Amino acid sequence: MSLTDLSLAAAREGLRRGDFTARELTEAHLTAIEALNPRLNAYVTVMADRALDQADAADAARSRGEDRPLLGLPLAIKDLFCTEGVRTTAASRILGPFVPPYESTVTANLLRDGAVFLGKANLDEFAMGSSNITSAFGPVENPWKRQGDPATVLVPGGSSGGSGAGVAARLALGATGTDTGGSIRQPASFCGIAGIKPTYGRCSRWGIVAFASSLDQAGPMARTVQDCAILLRSMAGHDPKDSTSIDRPVPDYEAACRRSVKGLRIGVPREYRAEGMPAEIERLWEQGLAWLRDAGAEIIEVSLPHTKYGLAAYYIVAPAEASSNLARYDGVRFGLRVEGEDLRDMYERTRAEGFGAEVRRRILIGTYVLSAGYYDAYYLRAQKVRALILRDFTEAFARVDALLTPTAPSAAFAQGEKMDDPVKMYLNDIFTVPASLAGVPGMSVPAGLDGDGLPLGLQVLGRPFDEETVFAVAAAIERAAGFEALPSLRAGA
Ligand code: GLN
Repeated sequence: MSLTDLSLAAAREGLRRGDFTARELTEAHLTAIEALNPRLNAYVTVMADRALDQADAADAARSRGEDRPLLGLPLAIKDLFCTEGVRTTAASRILGPFVPPYESTVTANLLRDGAVFLGKANLDEFAMGSSNITSAFGPVENPWKRQGDPATVLVPGGSSGGSGAGVAARLALGATGTDTGGSIRQPASFCGIAGIKPTYGRCSRWGIVAFASSLDQAGPMARTVQDCAILLRSMAGHDPKDSTSIDRPVPDYEAACRRSVKGLRIGVPREYRAEGMPAEIERLWEQGLAWLRDAGAEIIEVSLPHTKYGLAAYYIVAPAEASSNLARYDGVRFGLRVEGEDLRDMYERTRAEGFGAEVRRRILIGTYVLSAGYYDAYYLRAQKVRALILRDFTEAFARVDALLTPTAPSAAFAQGEKMDDPVKMYLNDIFTVPASLAGVPGMSVPAGLDGDGLPLGLQVLGRPFDEETVFAVAAAIERAAGFEALPSLRAGA
């Protein structure tokens, strides 16, 4: 077995036993990146020299008898996390050559625990999108192919598309993602890997380029549920620099993966039986419920009556917050500046050239729904709907311990599909957005393949700050599913 095929947990054991060094592990990944990244475009910046230095430092620490949770384990970092001294782009032209003078809290936590950073992963511009199509650095190719159709390029999902494709293709043992309305869970589903959006407040947002601050949350993406548990334990924790981060102990999520689901009550939200959902996704969902029932859980139908307003509310709240957050890119404080006749002209030219079409659309929508005269009709109403959606979840979680749903209404689609109409793209977020609005944790776990041989994920939702139950349920599904299919484009294939 090649080093790039190991799970993060197995690589951790191998390093501890001295079967190989962090340098060997890192070199294997850098070689894989060199071979495959020109095609997949999963990384926008490869940090080869720094990664090797970090690997050597990890080996030296280990030889002194040190051990840390992630010592010597190579990861990809979504290029929305500020990394000290390393260009951070948010996949936008407007940040130009921005090199942050500081490290985000989440990435600093990973470094504290000994991780090696291979590079910065591609994403949709400012994390706005569901297909990694809107990146200023070009799209990412999903390493999976439809059976018998190696030519069609599929999207990896978005916005954490580089993280998803990179981990699936074995160009990293794991990755960071961020999820505002599904950006960890949907690309995890499309790429056949696991990913968890923790409870809002679990991870610090400090040093992550802001999209919609009341929704943004960082989380891990990796090839197994246990690997996500290992990564989240390092990423999470209270941070005085983010007033929305919560001061609660971070549990041992790895131990939670081994918990039995016997006696747990699992809810099936009736409103998630979306019209027009492919029959094979419906079947996989039934299969997932059967697996949990076989493992001793009780399945209970529940209702989340305001689900149908989720997408509409999200596509008001998220652009509203984005229009405010993105006001700072004015040609003065960061990156790109396009000179103009006067100050106002400079602003306009900079923002017109610096932002791509989707980001401009979001800024226009956001500015509109916040403007005098429309604020009450759109923004305020969306906030009220958001409160009702949260109430739906609170009531459901009084009866059940977790919910099971599909992650997305489709498998990975082809590049170019759904691009003529932004609303079609937004519809892909139908199952992920409600949990974002409610702030509850959600995990996608690979559960099966569709008729074309493409991966499909199931989503486990939990009570606020009860990621442990989410991990336990996701791990039970993972064990039952025995998902072993591999993408056709991967290191060593
Ligand atoms: N696809 C959603 C959007 O475009 C979610 C993005 C995200 O979670 N960052 O807004």
